Amino acid sequence: MTRPIRIETLAVQSARFQDAPAGAVAAPIILSTTFERAADGTFPHGYIYSRSGNPNREHLERCLTALEGGRACIAFGSGSAATAAAFQSLSPGDHVIAPSDAYYGTAKLLNEVFGPWGLQASYADMSVLGELERAFRPNTKLVWIETPSNPLLKVTDIKRVAAMAHARGARVVCDNTWATPVLQRPFELGADVVMHATTKYLGGHSDVLGGALVVREDDDFAQRIRLIQTTGGAVPSPFECWLVVRSIRSLPLRVRAQADSAARVARHLEQHPAVEVVHYPGLERHPGYEVAKKQMSAFGGMLSFQVKGGREAAMRVAAGVRIFTRATSLGGCESLIEHRASVEGPASKTPANLLRVSVGLENAEDLIADLSDALA
Ligand SMILES: *Cc1c(COP(=O)(O)O)cnc(C)c1O
Repeated sequence: MTRPIRIETLAVQSARFQDAPAGAVAAPIILSTTFERAADGTFPHGYIYSRSGNPNREHLERCLTALEGGRACIAFGSGSAATAAAFQSLSPGDHVIAPSDAYYGTAKLLNEVFGPWGLQASYADMSVLGELERAFRPNTKLVWIETPSNPLLKVTDIKRVAAMAHARGARVVCDNTWATPVLQRPFELGADVVMHATTKYLGGHSDVLGGALVVREDDDFAQRIRLIQTTGGAVPSPFECWLVVRSIRSLPLRVRAQADSAARVARHLEQHPAVEVVHYPGLERHPGYEVAKKQMSAFGGMLSFQVKGGREAAMRVAAGVRIFTRATSLGGCESLIEHRASVEGPASKTPANLLRVSVGLENAEDLIADLSDALA
């Protein structure tokens, strides 16, 4: 009898390395770029050359496949390399629909790298299904979902978008970086591919860059992504794979603690007189609350808020924190705060008084006190 196991157990189990010759409980890091042939010319362990496959990368890929409940995983040297491989697996002349507030690197790839290559792209606010529906073309092959989104934490109904895309013959990729498989299960909602920047929550310690595509079917599309990985070579190093696997063991506990603290910080900020509005899908007044409640088991560790008094007031708050670190990125143990419009540059549509927060593993009361001092 196989009993279903829960994600905390799965995170630890899938990170176990079964065949360490010394009986090591933590996996060894195998740096070798090349692997020995047997006398008969075969490769008895299946490894030939590290770009096409190595034990640490396979370990990470198995782990991520198990966590998302997919069929296979293809790991890359960054989240953006994973995104690029998904687009590259299409053909020139194909059309992609992406969210109007997609991760800026994703939009930049579409506009500046894949546009000239011949891939067509449109953008839609996917929290408004009518807008998405109008964006379809006869050659639409891929719908890219990112939920919750950056920096307004907009929520896309994965199930409804997937149904709409499938009815029109398009695949669905869900960037699950912010929610993680702990809080959101895109395959159960109809996504065909799950994308991760493992740089964020999966890595979890702000010390490793990585990305992955997990696929629901090991079909032609997956084979093409694998070809781009092994031939293009945008692969993570064995040490980077090892770091992510090391961190995955504590992923469920970290993410739940971060989501719990983020909810408390959001509720505190919501009633603070110096705050104009808080964007957090766990707040009842957030436009994505109902959908988020349906498709997420908690609302995540990311939030943003707008400070009364415009850009200058927001900059003063960012300057006044002591526990938060002023830095971009997210998902690490340390809480981060950032003035998003400054990072995105002159073309940014982000409100000038908006600060984005990644809630870390500090005590929530200390974080609330730090923000209160900075807001005072
Ligand atoms: C960080 C991030 C990416 C890109 O990942 P990199 O590892 O920085 O290339 C993509 N999508 C989302 C939602 C991200 O937060």
